[in-house]
Amino acid sequence: MQNIFEMAKIPLDKAAALIKINPAAAKLLAEPERTLEVSIPVIMDDGRLEVFTGYRAQHNTALGPAKGGIRFHQHVTMDEVKTLSFWMTFKSAILNLPYGGGKGGVVVDPRNLSRRELEGLSRGYIQKIAPVIGEYVDIPAPDVNTDSRIMGWMMDEYSKVYGRLAPGVITGKPKTIGGSAGRGSATGRGVMFTVREAFKKLGIDARQATAAVQGFGNVGSFTAKLLYDIGVTIVAVSDVQGAIYKEDGFNPYAVEEYLKDHGSVAGFPGTSSMDNAELLELPVTVLAPCALESQITGENAGRIQAKIIAEGANGPTTPAADELLDQRGVMIIPDVLANAGGVTVSYFEWVQNLYRYYWTEKEVHARQEEMMVEAFAKVYEAGQQYNCTLRVAAYVVALERLTEAMKLRGWY
Ligand code: GLU
Repeated sequence: MQNIFEMAKIPLDKAAALIKINPAAAKLLAEPERTLEVSIPVIMDDGRLEVFTGYRAQHNTALGPAKGGIRFHQHVTMDEVKTLSFWMTFKSAILNLPYGGGKGGVVVDPRNLSRRELEGLSRGYIQKIAPVIGEYVDIPAPDVNTDSRIMGWMMDEYSKVYGRLAPGVITGKPKTIGGSAGRGSATGRGVMFTVREAFKKLGIDARQATAAVQGFGNVGSFTAKLLYDIGVTIVAVSDVQGAIYKEDGFNPYAVEEYLKDHGSVAGFPGTSSMDNAELLELPVTVLAPCALESQITGENAGRIQAKIIAEGANGPTTPAADELLDQRGVMIIPDVLANAGGVTVSYFEWVQNLYRYYWTEKEVHARQEEMMVEAFAKVYEAGQQYNCTLRVAAYVVALERLTEAMKLRGWY
């Protein structure tokens, strides 16, 4: 299999050829501007010293400071972090945010850490990357297995390193210490907005539609709940332990309650169990992969029955699958658009932090909706104009902004 960063560049190359960008601009986008690898010592609860490996990649900063989450996962690699930072560059550009792309990660399975060890690791990581981040340099946020509590520790640590409060250095914080209203639900809400816009284009009534959601973390749980709120029947959801299915649907809010008590969605009463791979192949209107990369591949794409795939995760569909699904007329709302609600509300949080003035939840939702509906329309229009997939169209929209910014800044 091709390496993930090379795979990620395929839609970029297609878009670049369609709008004939200057080869110099393509060269500037082909590698991250900066990558950093750090070793993070943590004294574990049993007194042993453990050294963890962490990364931060800043892909492109033509439109503004680097922006993007930090993931804690046992399979994190530099290549993955580079790729995720690359996607952030395009995501920010598509939403017209004044940001570039960044991403970070630590090689760890956080389920094996105590609360104290997790805090030590979070603080240690920030100490090590502090020289390359900052409110106007690179602004991290949550990603897989990281949450508002961790963002709070990280903001505190950065503020201690520099001896002044810097709430704008990181987004996705708890509300009391500078978090934004609406950030928790933002990514799932954005998935819902883009699915709703896709329904309008395809003439689908939400109340006649069904959905299967892979992953029930921050993105998947809100995606399921908010699709349910607009009338979609949720027939399947999953987590790392497996999937639950019920043909005539269930209430994802009740599943969330069940998860709190049981630690997994598996076994939710009235549903049958299946594995994560089977969930992807269900006959549904919408399939929302909201877990990890490379779930829909050349191998299983032929068996996907959904009409719409809404990529809540980053990179869930490989280029081989992309091609097969396009031939079969499946509409894919690409990650860089479908899951851009998170970074959009992160942007609102950062703006609020910089001027220390906070908005209501209603205001956040309204602004998010406006920006995402507009981004969807722009991408859809580019898709029509260039007769290409929404993924390639999204890269076209981003490239128009990115190439102009790099040109105006005199980078080529
Ligand atoms: N980790 C999220 C993403 O992949 C959010 C990034 C952010 O808010 O900066 O888009």
